[in-house]
Amino acid sequence: MIRAYKFLLRPTVRQAQALAEMLRDHCSLYNAALQERRDAWRHPSKTTVKYGGQSAQLKDIRAFDPERQGRWSFSSQQATLRRLDKAFAAFFRRVKSGETPGYPRFRGVNWFDTVDFPKDGDGCRWNSTPHDPATRVRLQGVGHVKVNQHRPVAGRVKTVSVKREGRKWFVVLTAEQDQPEPLPATGSAAGIDLGIANFLADSGGGFVPNPRHGRRAADKLQAAQQALARFPRRKAKDRTANHRRAVGKVAQLHGKVRRQRLDHAHKTALGLVRAHDFIAHEDLRIRNMSKAPAPKPDPDKPGTFLPNGAAAKAGLNKSINDAGWGVFLTILHAKAESAGREVIAVDPRDTSRTCPECGHTAKENRPTQEKFHCVACGHHAHADTVAATNVLRAGLVRRNANPA
Ligand SMILES: [Zn+2]
Repeated sequence: MIRAYKFLLRPTVRQAQALAEMLRDHCSLYNAALQERRDAWRHPSKTTVKYGGQSAQLKDIRAFDPERQGRWSFSSQQATLRRLDKAFAAFFRRVKSGETPGYPRFRGVNWFDTVDFPKDGDGCRWNSTPHDPATRVRLQGVGHVKVNQHRPVAGRVKTVSVKREGRKWFVVLTAEQDQPEPLPATGSAAGIDLGIANFLADSGGGFVPNPRHGRRAADKLQAAQQALARFPRRKAKDRTANHRRAVGKVAQLHGKVRRQRLDHAHKTALGLVRAHDFIAHEDLRIRNMSKAPAPKPDPDKPGTFLPNGAAAKAGLNKSINDAGWGVFLTILHAKAESAGREVIAVDPRDTSRTCPECGHTAKENRPTQEKFHCVACGHHAHADTVAATNVLRAGLVRRNANPA
């Protein structure tokens, strides 16, 4: 099983400068290779340039420009050429299927933020100084860069990538783990309901609140995006100092929101996977479809529609929540797999208005967002706990219908 890890890098000033040069030079290699393909494509003979041909030129390019190309890893340069090759493969695939895709574009140095090393030990070395208490990654042309390793890496490191996000640098590893270690069985099963007031409710009556810092960071991000929107659109090199600062602020806050959301998702998923052998959750794709309000035709103008509130629902908060749930479920599934736990997605229809005691289904069972009060048998509970209980029940039915 392959797992990915992402750690913050702590480069020295000189190393940070070398990292920026590494991105810059890989970016110009990418653009030069793109130029060559473009010229060939426009030439009347329509010769096509392929990855193999471009890769074969690398040796000469490195010898010709030792300052800016010869100093970096041969394999990372090949990886950059392969990335361009992928962009072209996607382009030609779409042309073939009758679409009119945009031709692969040149990348500005601010839009080129990753260098890949396809194999640990080739141009890079994870944990390059094992005797040193601080983990370091060695990158050819940069040196031994300190890593903020906040969790252990299990298994053999296969690939290493360096990524710039705003003003921060990260190393992304993929590692192959031989045998996932299953957790001991707990005999417990749970259903979960993802919500807005609470991040999630479980069928046992527990709640995981939404992280407060997430709300605060999202507000700050929104303010920074509004501040940025006041600047006229310009190419990166023509921006004023204030404009550049505003761009940097948005990137920095984006990174912060994403990291906090990830951290919260990891902790929540880990808690669930440790406590339960079986976890059922709502299928978000079905849920999103069923929650979109139906279009209302305008009786005065046939063929047109009246506003139905869909646009108002699709605010920033909603999109943040949706993204957060998707990320969380992906993490939950990955953790469950490596722990030998079972996770099932179920159709969420009626889960919030069916009584778990008597089975009576009516929207009147839910007088408010929070309350559930069955009009048939009088059962009452928190509405989210009821939804989670129904999700668990539906999950168990599905499992018993198709046992693994
Ligand atoms: Zn009832």
